[in-house]
Amino acid sequence: MRSHYCGQLNETLVDQEVTLCGWVHRRRDHGGVIFLDMRDRDGIAQVVVDPDTPEAFASADRARSEFVLRIRGRVRMRPEGTQNPGMPTGLIEVLAKDVEVLNTAATPPFQLDEHGKVGEEVRLKHRYIDLRRPEMIDKLRLRSRITHSVRAYLEGEGFLDIETPILTRATPEGARDYLVPSRTHEGQFFALPQSPQLFKQLLMVSGLDRYYQIAKCFRDEDLRADRQPEFTQIDLEASFVDEDAIMGITERMIRQLFKDVLDVELPEFPRMPYAEAMRRYGSDKPDLRIPLELVDVDDLMKDVDFKVFSGPARADDGRVAALRVPGGARLTRKEIDEYTKFVGIYGAKGLAWIKVNERAKGLEGLQSPIVKFMDGIIETLLDRVGAEDGDIIFFGADTARVVSEAIGALRVKLGEDLELYTREWAPLWVVDFPMFEDDGSARLQALHHPFTAPSCDVETLKANPVEALSRAYDMVLNGTELGGGSIRIHDQAMQRAVLDVLGIGEEEANEKFGFLLDALKFGAPPHGGLAFGLDRLVMLMTGARTIREVIAFPKTQSAACLMTDAPGEVSAEQLKELNIRLRHKPKVGDDAS
Ligand code: ASP
Repeated sequence: MRSHYCGQLNETLVDQEVTLCGWVHRRRDHGGVIFLDMRDRDGIAQVVVDPDTPEAFASADRARSEFVLRIRGRVRMRPEGTQNPGMPTGLIEVLAKDVEVLNTAATPPFQLDEHGKVGEEVRLKHRYIDLRRPEMIDKLRLRSRITHSVRAYLEGEGFLDIETPILTRATPEGARDYLVPSRTHEGQFFALPQSPQLFKQLLMVSGLDRYYQIAKCFRDEDLRADRQPEFTQIDLEASFVDEDAIMGITERMIRQLFKDVLDVELPEFPRMPYAEAMRRYGSDKPDLRIPLELVDVDDLMKDVDFKVFSGPARADDGRVAALRVPGGARLTRKEIDEYTKFVGIYGAKGLAWIKVNERAKGLEGLQSPIVKFMDGIIETLLDRVGAEDGDIIFFGADTARVVSEAIGALRVKLGEDLELYTREWAPLWVVDFPMFEDDGSARLQALHHPFTAPSCDVETLKANPVEALSRAYDMVLNGTELGGGSIRIHDQAMQRAVLDVLGIGEEEANEKFGFLLDALKFGAPPHGGLAFGLDRLVMLMTGARTIREVIAFPKTQSAACLMTDAPGEVSAEQLKELNIRLRHKPKVGDDAS
C-alpha cells in the first residue's frame, strides 16, 4: 500500500511521487491550505493539501487526530523560511494528490505529545496508543536490534536456539511459582518455569553442547520495585567449559552488542571477588562509576567511649565502616537528615558524620556530634579514609549486613545526587560467591541455585559449608546485575552433598527434580552457563527509567495487566472442569493485588 515510510523521506526524493500510510499526528488549517503531519513507526512527514485537488482536500478536511490515511503525492522542498532542520524530514514536504481515509478514529484518551499529563495507568490501559509514541517505538526497535545482535553472535559461536517447555515443574530459583491447574490430571498442577535451568542442563546431558534461548521466565515474587512477574532472559549453556570460557563468550557478546547497537566500546571487565565487593562497596553489584569506597574502621572503634560504635566493632557479626565524600562538607543539616532517613530504610538506626572543615586545625577544624569520642584515634581515622578539607565522612555501625546494605545504598545515592559519576559505562564480573547463605531460617540457602558447583571438594564442603565458595559469576554494569550463572555440578556425589547441606533429603530431591539427578547418572558432561535479564539490559541501553518502558505489554507493580484486565475471574464451569472450588468468592471490584 505504501512506497515509503514517512520518516524515510528526504531531499533525495524531491520531485518523486510517493505513497504514505499512517496516522494523522496533527492537522492544521492554514486558511485554505491543510497541513497534515503524517506519522508511522519511522517518523513524521508534513503533507500539504491544496484546495485545487478538491477530493483530496475534502478528505483532509474530514481527517482528525489519529485517523488512518493513505496519501499519494509529490515530494518537494519546503519554501525558504519554513524548513525545520531539527526534524529528519524537515527540509521537504509532500504535496498531496490523493488522500484516502482508511479509517476514522475516536478521540484518543490522551494526545500522544501530552502523555505526561495522564497517569501511567491510563497509558497502560490504552497501551496500543501509548506505543504509537515515537519514544516507545524507538525503545522497542532498539530491543529488537539487541536480540538480533545477540542471536547473530551466539549462532556464530555455534549455539543452537532450542525451546524449552512453559508448562513444567517447579524450578528452584528461589521465587514462588505460578501454577496452572491440569484438567486432565485432577488435582495436579503445572508450574511455569522460573528459568529454563533444568532443561538446559538436560540438553547438555543430551550432547547438544551449546544452547541458547530468549526465554520467558515467570516468578511470583513479592512486590519489589521494578520487577515484572514475567520477564525475558537471554539464557545459555555450554558443555566442556570452565568459568573462563563462559565469561569470555558472554563478555564478547555484550561487547559486540554495545558496539553494534550503541557504537560504544566498553572498557575492560575487571573481576572482583564477592568479599571484596561487599567490603569496598557494600554491594555484590557495585556501581564502579562512583568514586566512593567504604573503609573498615572496626579496629579503631573497639575502645572508643561510644557504644554505638564500640558495640558493633567488637561483635563477631558487626561492622563499622566509614564513607568519605569529597566536597560533602557543604551538605546542609536538612540534607544530612534526609540521608539519615534514607539509611533507615535499610535498617540503620542512625547516620554519624564528621565534616572536615580545616584539617590543619586539628579537632577545632572538625564539625561533628561524635568527634568528642574520637580523642586519640582521630588522626589515624582521617589518614585512613584520606580526609581532606571540604569532605564529609559518614559512618555506619551495626551488623555487617545492615552496614553494607545501608552505607552501600548511601554511596549510590550520593553518587547520583552529587553527580559524582566518573564515566558512562562501568562493567565488571563479580566472582567467588559464597555457596550458601544463612538467612536466619533453620536451613542454609543456595546463594545461586542448588546445581551450582562449589570450588572445593565434597569433604571440604561437608566440613565447612558456610565457608565454601561457588563457581558462580555475575556480570554487573553500572550497579545493575545484567546476568549471572555458574559452572554446574555434573557429579552425583557432589550434587548429593550440596542437597544435604541445603537440608533437602533424598525423597524431597527425587520428588522435585529426580529427573535431573537421574540424568546425572547417564554421562553428564562438565557444563555451565549464564542468563542475562533482557529487560534490564534494554533498559540500561535505552536509558529508560523503568523496565515497564521497554516491555510492549507490561504488568503493573501489583502484577496485573490493566489493558486485558488479567488476572480475571473464570466461569463456574471452567472451575468445575478443573476440579477447583474457591474458598472465598472474590468480591466484585477486588483487584488481584
Ligand atoms: N538459571 C539461572 C538464573 O535464572 C541462571 C544460570 O545459572 O544460568 O538465575
